[in-house]
Amino acid sequence: MSREEIEEVKERLDIVDVIADYLHLGRAGRNYRALCPFHSEKTPSFYVSPERQTWHCFGCGRGGDVFTFVMEQERLSFPEALRLLAERAGVSLKSTQNGKGAVDLYDLMKEAHAFYRRQIQSAGAETARSYLEKRGIDSKNIMRFEIGWAPPGWDSLKRHFAKAGFPPEQAAQAGLLINGEKGTYDRFRGRILFPIKDVRGRIIAFGGRTISGDGAKYINSPESPIYSKRSTLFLLDAAKKAIKEKNRAILVEGYMDAIKMHMAGFPETVATLGTSLTEEQATLLKRFSDQCLICYDADIAGQEAAIRGMYLLQGAGLDIRVVSLPEGMDPDDLLSSEGGFDRLDKLLETADPLPLFHIRTKEAELTDESKRSRARREIIEGLASLPALEANRYLPEVAKGLGLLLPEIVGVLEKERKSRTRKGQKKRPAGEDIAAEGKAETVDPLEAALCYLLWIDPRLRATVPPELVFPLLHDEAVKSVTAALIQGEEPAELESRWLETGERRPMAILAAGGAHLEEYEGNNRWEVLLEALKRKKNYRRFLFLKEKKARGEASIEEVREFADLAKALKGGSR
Ligand SMILES: [Zn+2]
Repeated sequence: MSREEIEEVKERLDIVDVIADYLHLGRAGRNYRALCPFHSEKTPSFYVSPERQTWHCFGCGRGGDVFTFVMEQERLSFPEALRLLAERAGVSLKSTQNGKGAVDLYDLMKEAHAFYRRQIQSAGAETARSYLEKRGIDSKNIMRFEIGWAPPGWDSLKRHFAKAGFPPEQAAQAGLLINGEKGTYDRFRGRILFPIKDVRGRIIAFGGRTISGDGAKYINSPESPIYSKRSTLFLLDAAKKAIKEKNRAILVEGYMDAIKMHMAGFPETVATLGTSLTEEQATLLKRFSDQCLICYDADIAGQEAAIRGMYLLQGAGLDIRVVSLPEGMDPDDLLSSEGGFDRLDKLLETADPLPLFHIRTKEAELTDESKRSRARREIIEGLASLPALEANRYLPEVAKGLGLLLPEIVGVLEKERKSRTRKGQKKRPAGEDIAAEGKAETVDPLEAALCYLLWIDPRLRATVPPELVFPLLHDEAVKSVTAALIQGEEPAELESRWLETGERRPMAILAAGGAHLEEYEGNNRWEVLLEALKRKKNYRRFLFLKEKKARGEASIEEVREFADLAKALKGGSR
C-alpha cells in the first residue's frame, strides 16, 4: 500500500458517512455525536468532526481517523481496513492487484455459502432436508435462513474452490479448509450449515450441525481475520431492525432456537454462539436496544456461569430480564406445544429482572439454614457488581427475598463493594482491553491540543523552537510526535507509518487534541495553549515545593521560588 493510496481513500470518503453506517449520529453543533460503540454509556460522548475528519470519545478516550474507526469497529488489521474502505471509495489498490490473485475473505465466504446453498437443493441432501423438515423447517424457511449443506466428502468445497479460482491458503485462513498432514481438506463434511453473518449482513462463519450423529453435534468456524466469536450474535443482522423498533432483544442459546423464534413471530431474537455472554456482545446489543430478555432453558439459565454472564450484560448498562421457561423445555419445545406462541409471549412480558431471578434460583438454599448464608453472599456479590444506581432499583425486593431489612442489605452491599474495590475486582469492561493502546485517556488535553496544532499547521512546525515546547510536555507519546513534526516529518508519512506498525495511541492523541482545541477560538490559540501549559507546569512545581516545605526540607532558594510561584499563579501571569 502506498501513501498516495491511503490519502486518496481518505480524501474520497467522508468519515461521517462511514461512521453513520455503524452508529446513529445526531448533530451537535459543528460535529456529530453518538453513543460510543467501544465502551458502555448512557449519554453520548462519542464525537465525529467532519471538519477534521476524526472521531474522539470523551468517555473512554479512544479516537482517531476513519481507518482507526473501522479497524476497531470491525476488528480489522490496517491492510484489511484499507481494502474495505478503498472498495467503498472506489479506489483500486495496486498492492492487492499484485497480490497473486489474493481475494477478499468476505468474497470467499460468499462463494462458499452459495456453494453450500446449492448443495442443500441437491439429491444428496435428501436426509438433511428431511431432518430439517422434522424440526419444523420447511424448504421455504431453508431459503429464508439461507441454510446450506456440506456434502460428506472430504474435498467437495476444495474442488469447487479450485475450479472457481480461489486460493486454498485463503480458504484455510477463513477456516473453510484445514491443512492436515495428508493435505488440505474440507472442514465441514456431512453437516447442515447455518450462515453466521456480521451486523452488516456479510457471511463471516458457519455453524455446522451433524445429522448422522458422527462427531460433535456442532462444529463451528474457527476465529479468523473476519470472525470473532466474542463479538458476534447469530441472526443479529436480520433482527436489528426489530430490536430497535421493539427496544428489546431476545437472547436464546442456539441456531435452531433463534430460527424458530423468528419463524414464530419474534424477529427480535439473536443467539450466542456457544460461548457465555461477553462484554463485546453486550456493547453490540446496546447499539440497538436497552433491554435484553434472556430465554435459555431452565437448567442452563440457573447455572452460575450463565448468571455471571448476565450480570456482565447488566453491568454494561442493559436491562436484563430472565424468562423462566417450564422445566426441561427450550424455546423451540415451548413454541411447538399447544398455544406455544401465547405462552411464550406471556413469559416474555413477565420476565424477572436479573437480581430477582437470581434469588428465585436460590429459593431452596435460602430456606435451608445450612446453605442460606452462602446463597445470600452470592446474590449480594452479583448485586455489588452492578453500578449502584442499577442495584438500588431492586433493593427492597432483594431485601425481602433474602429475609433482610432494607438498612441491613444496604450495609452488606456497601461492605461488599468496598471489598471488591480493595481486591481490585472492579473489572474494567473487557472491550476496553482489546484496544487499550488506542486510548488517549491519560493524555493531558492541553498537550494533545498543542500537538494537534503542530500537526495541522506546517508554518508553525517549521518555526517553533523545540526548546520552547519540550519542557512543557509530560507525555512521552506527545513528545515523540511533537519531535517528529518539528524535525520536519510530514503528517501523512507519520500516519501511514503508525497505521502499518499498528501504533494507535498517536492518532488517538491527535483526535483528542483536535476535539479539545475546539474550546479555543481565534488566531492566538498557540499562545494561549503555551500559556496554559506553562501555568500548569508552574502549578505542578508549586505543589511539589509546597510539600517539600511542609516536610521542612526546602532550601532557601526553594522557599523563595515557592513564594514567587504562589504570587504568579494568583496573579495569572508568568
Ligand atoms: Zn468511548
